[in-house]
Amino acid sequence: MESRGMVRKRIIIEGIVQGVGFRPFVYRVAREQGLTGWVLNDSRGVLIEVEGEGTALNRFLDDLREKLPPLASISRLDIMDIPPVGENDFVIRASSGEASKTAQISPDTFVCADCLRELFDPQDRRYRYPFINCTNCGPRFTIVTDIPYDRPNTTMAGFPMCAPCREEYDDPGNRRFHAQPNACPACGPRMTLLDADGREVAATDPVAEGIRLLRAGRIVAVKGLGGFHLAVDAANESAVADLRRRKERDEKPFAIMAADTAKAAALAAIGPAERQLLEGVERPIVLLRQKKGHGLSPLVAPRNNFFGLMLPYTPLHHLLLEGNFEALVMTSANVSDEPIVYEDGEALSRLHGIADYYLTHNRRIHTRTDDSIVRVMADRPVVLRRSRGYVPRGVFLPSEQPSVLAVGAELKNAVCLTQGNRAYLSQHIGDLKNLEVLDSLARNVEYFSAILELKPQIVAHDLHPDYLSTRYAEDLPGGMERVSVQHHHAHLASCLAEHRTTGEVIGIIFDGIGYGADGHIWGGEFLVGGYADCRRAGHFMNTPMPGGDAATREPYRMALSYLHQAYGEDLPLLPVLGRIPAQDRKLLVQMIEKGINAPLASSCGRLFDAVASMAGIRDRVNYEGQAALELEQAIDREDGGCYPFFLITEGESLVFDHRPLVRAVAEAVQAGDPTGLISARFHNSLVEMIRQVCVNLRLETRLERVVLSGGVFQNRYLTERSVRVLEGEGFKVLTHSLVPPNDGGLALGQAVIAGHRVAMGMG
Ligand code: ZN
Ligand code: ZN
Ligand code: FE
Repeated sequence: MESRGMVRKRIIIEGIVQGVGFRPFVYRVAREQGLTGWVLNDSRGVLIEVEGEGTALNRFLDDLREKLPPLASISRLDIMDIPPVGENDFVIRASSGEASKTAQISPDTFVCADCLRELFDPQDRRYRYPFINCTNCGPRFTIVTDIPYDRPNTTMAGFPMCAPCREEYDDPGNRRFHAQPNACPACGPRMTLLDADGREVAATDPVAEGIRLLRAGRIVAVKGLGGFHLAVDAANESAVADLRRRKERDEKPFAIMAADTAKAAALAAIGPAERQLLEGVERPIVLLRQKKGHGLSPLVAPRNNFFGLMLPYTPLHHLLLEGNFEALVMTSANVSDEPIVYEDGEALSRLHGIADYYLTHNRRIHTRTDDSIVRVMADRPVVLRRSRGYVPRGVFLPSEQPSVLAVGAELKNAVCLTQGNRAYLSQHIGDLKNLEVLDSLARNVEYFSAILELKPQIVAHDLHPDYLSTRYAEDLPGGMERVSVQHHHAHLASCLAEHRTTGEVIGIIFDGIGYGADGHIWGGEFLVGGYADCRRAGHFMNTPMPGGDAATREPYRMALSYLHQAYGEDLPLLPVLGRIPAQDRKLLVQMIEKGINAPLASSCGRLFDAVASMAGIRDRVNYEGQAALELEQAIDREDGGCYPFFLITEGESLVFDHRPLVRAVAEAVQAGDPTGLISARFHNSLVEMIRQVCVNLRLETRLERVVLSGGVFQNRYLTERSVRVLEGEGFKVLTHSLVPPNDGGLALGQAVIAGHRVAMGMG
């Protein structure tokens, strides 16, 4: 009966369904099935009423779920029967502005194949137009100023469309139907070239002139999607050297951009998973092993076997790479650790003395967003910096929870807001060491609260009383419930949440530094617990950090400290000790022995630093994690050997006593063992230690699942080998993929822990 009569359904859809060609898609499918009704964007997502014969309606519903446009994703689909009304047609209705603003905005998306074809078609009216875009591609998150996602609520508001653009925009059959950033050379934004002092350089084609300058070895600041890049020809040694000097960036690798996968493959080894990432919609920077004879300046990534490489993601990038470069350096435009520059005025002042020219344009960037960074481990992508292309896509939580704002930690700060069972992790904000970054944090909190229309009543922050993020949380207007969360517990919860799972797990949480519940520095932690609560089942033996923060920048201090712990007064004759002036050595030993400015730390990161320094890799670092990274890269994969260590029981706790390991490393250095061998055996020892800890804790707790989290697990060798060994023991191992294992993912863990605590009345 029903299949022959007319049926009408109301369909409510939430998810990433605005600005991604969803309504034209619905329109097309409805017409294909001969249905009538309408579709509109509202501020929750998309609302459809559709009417027709039962089987056609079912086919429509199947297509709706299965043939989504490439950028769309549905998080909620509600269908209800309503009385038929008998229209003649299916139409797209104007947006309605009421209700809550929970529609999800799409991330910025790389220029699609259709637009690229037009970009290089001399017959097309957008031939070589750097702002070409369509419903399936273009800027989104970075240009949205409010929702619903409509042109007046973007930085395209000031560019009224010309008649031909308007026609495309209004035509449901056109691939630019309701493409909010739609534009052409007649009506849209345009490029300009400025000199170092901000004066416009007369050029008929600013992009062609920019290419000429890059070829001549000049440093050009290029305005991108989420901020400026500093570009130079990566094969030009003196240009790269100039950039390094002017940017005061001694050794941190520069990201590079190659024209396409074929060009990239000449520079670095690209496996299938890496290729997929390079060419995927997010277009992140992918860490790839360099090929010998790559031809780029060694100053692109000094003392590093990897390139951070990305493919072009804006039409402008494609035009620039036409200049036939092996690759361009495309590094975030900033001075040392400040946030990326994204406004035109600030570019001219802050990049003064760095950039020779500015290739810029008049489409404003509303929200600053860096490039994302991804590394493949065990054939899975692991996001190390989650930013452009990923943000503001939500992370689904295992359950609904009260709305929480979590403000992250100090390094690699990102904030997180939750709503129902979704968490929105902000883009990478930066190291919260100055007010400029704190200001960026505050703006992001406001922006995310506005576009999600959220007023969380709960704020989660780190236990550390002095972090700027903690102060920020304390200074929020009264009435908010504050929940402080221990750093390593947050790492554990972040990984659990990413896996949408609940219950208790064993947490192997290794990083550099986090404030411990006992006031000491933690960073080599064996935890047992879940969201609401967790206990410290064990940890690395405490070791003094002579000079506090200075010991993080100068690994030789940690080498001395671990050696002193392992040997006492009679230190072995090691090259690292010879490199420390006798006077300094005496002072450092005094600090260690008397506990003056030598906080105790159970940090895994510091042990890496010490071993790197002992092995002669480096005594000082220029950026966080550098010594550990170089120690990993030195690994000789052929060796399966292992150094001794103790796992001792102290009261309720398992303690990793690394003194035998430190002595073994010292002896290996004295015996002249190659660095690659020492590094491999050191890593293998940690894996064996992790195995023993997990087996021990499983006996005690019967838990079978292990979480690996913390910045140390950016280490591919350690992660892959730990996973393999633990799986061999029958454990189920949870590692990060979409959310960074480092502190960039911490806010997610804080948010979920706070949500659970408050829900359970234990805030
Ligand atoms: Zn397109
Ligand atoms: Zn136009
Ligand atoms: Fe951490």
